[in-house]
Amino acid sequence: MLEIASKMRTLCFPPRCANCQVEICQAGTNQPEIQQHQLRENLAEPLHRHDRLASLLDSHWCCHCFSKLVRHQCITCWTCGAQLSQQSPLGKRCAHCFKNNFRFTRAISLGNYQDQLQKLVIRMKNQHDEPLTIQLGNLLANQLVDSDFFDNIDLITAVPTHWWRRFKRGFQAAEMLAETIARAVNRPFDPAILKCQRSTKKQGLLASTSRQKNVQNAFGVNRPVLIQGKNVLLIDDVMTTGATANEISRILLRSGVEKVYVGVIARGARVS
Ligand SMILES: [Zn+2]
Ligand SMILES: [Zn+2]
Repeated sequence: MLEIASKMRTLCFPPRCANCQVEICQAGTNQPEIQQHQLRENLAEPLHRHDRLASLLDSHWCCHCFSKLVRHQCITCWTCGAQLSQQSPLGKRCAHCFKNNFRFTRAISLGNYQDQLQKLVIRMKNQHDEPLTIQLGNLLANQLVDSDFFDNIDLITAVPTHWWRRFKRGFQAAEMLAETIARAVNRPFDPAILKCQRSTKKQGLLASTSRQKNVQNAFGVNRPVLIQGKNVLLIDDVMTTGATANEISRILLRSGVEKVYVGVIARGARVS
């Protein structure tokens, strides 16, 4: 009965691409045979990743947008996950990470905060677009499963927001992304680990030198006993200078967390 209802719903309201809104005839594609083949080629993945691909094909992206969003082979910073235009002369890390020495162990992103990804993140935040947030979360979940630290993760949480901002805005992109990812990869999600104990200015409006000061001692841990010795994945929408992720990593590590990993939809593009 549920299956019939689901088919009727699909017939009356066919799924549309989360980006360009084109109608998707079959999950994830408009021309199943040809385009699924293209998707696999685009991902350049070996066949044993078929299950993960299958979950991607169920997502609501048309082939055109999907191929633009999925990271093609490129050079990325080992620490912060930024896409680099060329091999860093500093080894595995970009100049930014080399200078800052972040407290988190690794970070991943869908790509740099530019072009299509930038437009999607702005739409997700400004329009409080929940379906888009979930689709972006699913893409990051797939990337997470492919990362070499996926097996280490015990717990997933999100960068917290001050209660006043929560009250005013209602929509919490980071929390919704974290919940989506946790569900997709079947790991515990706990949004209450962290608290934002004072109101901060929007990081995006500040010069990079002021961002660290803005978030200093702004966060706290609610119940340290629950995170002792665990590896935590911290989710946010965008990471630019990394000041917020770094400050939260500091208080998590101080509270007994073993390692902090970071997952963001986009990495601020001011990276070399
Ligand atoms: Zn599309
Ligand atoms: Zn880096």
